[in-house]
This record gives sequence, structure tokens and C-alpha cells, in this order.
Amino acid sequence: MSAAPNILILATGGTIAGTAGSALKRDYRPGQIGIESFIGQAGALGVAANLTGREIAAMGSEDITPEIWRALHDACDAAMDDSQVDAIIITHGTDTAEETALLLDLTLPTNKPIVLVGAMRPADAVGTDGIRNFLNAVRVASDADAAGRGVMMVMSDRIISARDARKAKTTGTDAFKGFPRDSIGTVTPSSLDWFGEPWAKGRAARFDFPAAFPHVPICHAYAGMQRDAVDCLLREETHGLVLAGFGEGNAPRVIFDRLAELAAKGVVVVRASRVDEGLVDRLPMDDEHGFVAARGLGPAKARILLQVLLANGISEMSEVQAAFDTR
Ligand code: GLU
Repeated sequence: MSAAPNILILATGGTIAGTAGSALKRDYRPGQIGIESFIGQAGALGVAANLTGREIAAMGSEDITPEIWRALHDACDAAMDDSQVDAIIITHGTDTAEETALLLDLTLPTNKPIVLVGAMRPADAVGTDGIRNFLNAVRVASDADAAGRGVMMVMSDRIISARDARKAKTTGTDAFKGFPRDSIGTVTPSSLDWFGEPWAKGRAARFDFPAAFPHVPICHAYAGMQRDAVDCLLREETHGLVLAGFGEGNAPRVIFDRLAELAAKGVVVVRASRVDEGLVDRLPMDDEHGFVAARGLGPAKARILLQVLLANGISEMSEVQAAFDTR
């Protein structure tokens, strides 16, 4: 990478581009500030990288769609082959950033760094974290050692791998954590430390980007739930389902009985947990019924991985389990 890297910024909106109009009001709207504003601020602060902005969307990430995911994927994919681009930054709302990050991590090669960045406070809030997170993302994307680590998230001075990133708090600038692997590095606008070597150097895209996203519902466990909690989620075309179970992917007997019936009919059932942190490992019941254990992925990310697998024609239990087991 040259001394002044060329970084493509793909903007999608979120709080990082949001304003409240007043530091004392909560009436904020995401996706109000154009990416040129951040590029201008970074330039004024003396950032050496050449930043080029492109707006993919200007929205809260709760409204993200497969079409926007596709536009992001295709823009990243094209940039991978563009000698004028050294790295990519995606500005994104924090609510679904982990899902976008994992999807891109699964479907893109690792030869150039891809960094997702967001903010928890709007751009005009007192103590906004937006510009700091953005400068941190530029620092990471500019680093010669950043490629080969897959898609990364940069929030609150931490670099987190897409596979591990989770929004774990509803408010506060330290809302993200990595699980099961915590940060893979720390970053400030003036420093960068990696905790270890790139582990995925030169890795090709592992899966094709889905031509269509299969219907994969998430069944959220609660005490006293009955069969209809599963049945109301099913469509004729449902070939995968994620359980957001109690504890280590647990559920009432009546639910497991229903899920076992579905698995016997060829529906891929993944056991994840509604608990924020902790592994869901394979249990004897998984072998008995043909279930898959989500391991370190929470329900929303387990759903993304299962959609990608199904769209790539992978539905055999051991192959699906292997994908959940592989970082
Ligand atoms: N809900 C909005 C979003 O995810 C704002 C939250 C945020 O970016 O922190 O885009």
C-alpha cells in the first residue's frame, strides 16, 4: 500500500450520519449527513489517506434490505479488483451492523481491508463518537497489516472481527463487544495495535452472495411456549429455522418435539441462544434429531450464515455444522 492509501467509503446512513438538531433533544434522525462531510472533516484534521465517498443508502440500519446488502457486496467486490482502491470503509447504523459485517465476511475475499464503522451518538450530539470512530476506521483501513483479517468493525477504539462483533448495549459508546474472541486490535486516531497476525491472508470468498435470501425465521424461546410458537413462523418454502433458545440453546420439550419433526422433514434447525454471551455446543440431542449448534453465533448472525449456506445449496447437517464451527 502506498504512503497515502486510496480508501473507498461506502455510506449507508445510521447514527454516524445522524443529527438531532439539538444537543438536548432525543428527536434524532439517522442518515442526514453526507459522507463528504466526514471526508472534509478528516482532511481538515490532516488525515493523509485519499478518501472517496459513495452513498449506497441514507437510512437507519433497521431498514436494511437484501438489495442494499447486494449493492454493498457488489461495490466491495468491484473494489477488490480495482487497482485505484486500497481499502474500503462502510459507514453503517449500529443496529444491524453485525449482520451486514458477517454477510460480507462470508461472501468476499480478504485481499483488501473492509472496515464497518458506526456511532452511538449523532454527529451533533455532545461528545459525539462519530468522527473519532471514522478516523479510527481510516487508520485501520490504511494499515499495511489490515488485510487478511476478513471484514472488521471499528467502534470505541476497538477492532472486532465480523464473526465476533455483537451490539451488546442499547446505549453508550462502548456498545459493541467481540465474542468469543474479544478485540483483534486497538486503535485511536494516533495509534494502532494488532493482537496477532492476519489469519485469513489471501482467502477467497467462501460462499457466493445469495441470489435470493431463503426464508429463515427465528423462534424466540419463552417460558410456557407451545407448538404454535414454531408453527406460526413457517411457510411452505421454509427450509431453515433458528432457535433463539434459553441458556445453551434450550427449549421446552414440546418445542424440541416439533423441531425434531421439522428436521426429519429436511428443515435445517440451528440451536442458538437468547442469552447474549456464551457458546452453544453440540449435545447428544443434535445427533439424535439432526440439529445444528450455533456455537459462538447469536440468533441474528446464525440466521445470516444459514441463509448463505442454504442459498449455496448446503443443507446437510454435518456440512452446516462445519460452517458454524469454522471461523
Ligand atoms: N437504528 C439506527 C441504525 O441502526 C441508529 C442506531 C445507530 O446507528 O447507532 O441505523
